[in-house]
Amino acid sequence: MTRSDALLILKKDLEVLDDLDIHDEPDDLARYSLDAFDYSPVLSPRLKNCKAQLVARPRSIDAVEHLASACARHAVPITVRGAGTGNYGQCVPLDGGVVMLTNKLRCIREINDSTGIVTVEPGCPMGHLDQELRSHSRQLRLLPSTWRSATIGGFVAGGSGGIGSVSWGFLRDPGHLLGCEVVPVTTKPQRLYLENAEAEALNHAYGTNGIITALTLATIPSVDWQQVSLDCADWNVAVKLLLDCGRSALSLHLATALEAPLLKKLPAWSGPTSTKHRLLLLVAPDGLSTLYRLAAAAGADLHSLGAEDLKKSSGLRELSWNHTTCHTRASEPGWTYLQMLLPQPELPAMHALQKLWGDDLIWHLELVRQQGDVRIAALPLVRWHGAKLLKQLIADCHTQGAIVFNPHVITVEDGGLGIIDGNQVATKQRLDPNGLMNPGKLRGWLELNQGA
Ligand SMILES: Cc1cc2nc3c(=O)[nH]c(=O)nc-3n(C[C@H](O)[C@H](O)[C@H](O)COP(=O)(O)OP(=O)(O)OC[C@H]3O[C@@H](n4cnc5c(N)ncnc54)[C@H](O)[C@@H]3O)c2cc1C
Repeated sequence: MTRSDALLILKKDLEVLDDLDIHDEPDDLARYSLDAFDYSPVLSPRLKNCKAQLVARPRSIDAVEHLASACARHAVPITVRGAGTGNYGQCVPLDGGVVMLTNKLRCIREINDSTGIVTVEPGCPMGHLDQELRSHSRQLRLLPSTWRSATIGGFVAGGSGGIGSVSWGFLRDPGHLLGCEVVPVTTKPQRLYLENAEAEALNHAYGTNGIITALTLATIPSVDWQQVSLDCADWNVAVKLLLDCGRSALSLHLATALEAPLLKKLPAWSGPTSTKHRLLLLVAPDGLSTLYRLAAAAGADLHSLGAEDLKKSSGLRELSWNHTTCHTRASEPGWTYLQMLLPQPELPAMHALQKLWGDDLIWHLELVRQQGDVRIAALPLVRWHGAKLLKQLIADCHTQGAIVFNPHVITVEDGGLGIIDGNQVATKQRLDPNGLMNPGKLRGWLELNQGA
């Protein structure tokens, strides 16, 4: 049977379901086949023509089960989509088929007031979830800088870390995802509950090994984070001050460093206009006086910007993580970016790379906790001069000892440490035995099944 025939039958099967909407208008097919891959000039030409053949929007978990089983029966690929803010084409359907939208699956099933543990459906927008948690004096530990629009399911399946990583490391660290409910893509409609270690296989798997229909996550007591920016004339001093903040007893939610040329390209809400390098910090109220002390010792100018107003999208959060690339590209689309964990000590590696790449590379740093250590992740802005030079830059970063998380590739493994996670592949074998979920994104599966 051809794919078109299979889709016709699938559509008929789905039309009878009350709690599922289907769309096949060309505008919808185009709109729901894109994410923010355009930040990568390598991915853009590769992904821009990939299109869904049908869009399905279930309004209940029962409908997800029926959709998954229908896709399995008719051998039609299915790609799950949250808010579509991923940067690596995570929810772009490489092989067409169905794109399933999660935005009607947004129930917060439980916030446990004694443990703070939350169970939530995947399409819940993170901004809404955080707001609800705050009414229980809790908040999310980790959020992407797109937290206002991103869904919690999309973050866990496609993201890695962000605001909060300075204290809580990365999403795949044990202790964040405590369990999940999942619908397999098998002919029998069903849902399963995976505890802790089993659930980890779906964490950052790009929706290749099961449809997450609920997530159980740890949270933290909420804090009225204070926004502070610190200006330093010397980049070496700025980097040392950033590290000093991380190695002190401050409670931090964000610690970002922006080189002066990058600060100039960003919206002006992080403090007075300055030609210096700038640190952006979210600090607990009891840390303010210590920050004044650290700033004075480093000769930095401190700007206390007050408590965050989470209703406004003009906070320091929106100048951190990949929002720097977003703002820069809005006026200068000739820039792209890289992501890496810098080696220790960080400054010699940064100096060596700057010497080679000059003003084609502008530093943006994020302080993170990595396996218990205070480390610096870098998301430098990179002037686009073609794929060959990007490859050379990545090689230079490796030579300096950086671990590069390449944002210009499409598989889970190649955007991470390059290593196949046997647990993810085994889970796909179990929950998506016919390889229908987001095909082409899990290299471990491709190698196993195609001898690629
Ligand atoms: C300006 C900008 C800044 C960003 N900053 C950050 C950052 O700080 N940290 C970070 O980690 N990322 C960041 N990102 C990437 C992205 O915004 C986040 O990872 C975000 O959390 C993705 O959520 P989403 O709802 O848009 O997911 P989508 O893009 O819709 O989906 C992401 C992946 O999850 C899968 N998926 C979604 N729902 C499910 C489900 N129910 N079951 C199984 N699989 C599912 C999809 O198939 C896809 O593979 C940034 C992107 C931009 C454009």
